[in-house]
Amino acid sequence: METPYGKDCSYYYEDYNRGRDIQECRLAAKAGKLHEWTPKLCQNCPVPGIERANSCKHMMLDGEVKKGFLGMNKRMECSAFCTKTLQDVKEPQIGCGHCHEDNPIWEALLRDS
Ligand code: SF4
Repeated sequence: METPYGKDCSYYYEDYNRGRDIQECRLAAKAGKLHEWTPKLCQNCPVPGIERANSCKHMMLDGEVKKGFLGMNKRMECSAFCTKTLQDVKEPQIGCGHCHEDNPIWEALLRDS
């Protein structure tokens, strides 16, 4: 769903039908921090960029609302984990580096070279 800042995010949910007024971040909800989340956090959240750059089905994202000094400068921070290689993904935009091993085209190229 498109966030209020025009980026697609699979964790964003809103519903204004029939008088409803619901906006949610399902990533913050998963971390139990939905009460700290506001739609403003979507503006600088890294998740839409990560999803655009890497659609690996094995990569799981976790997100948390982090606060800066004196509770100001709230932001979303995100971490990633690969369920295939069972390791943290340091650069979620790129992935853990093992996904290409499943790609039959890549395997054929390596075999033929
Ligand atoms: S805060 Fe980030 S993860 Fe949550 S809905 Fe907004 S863009 Fe998506």
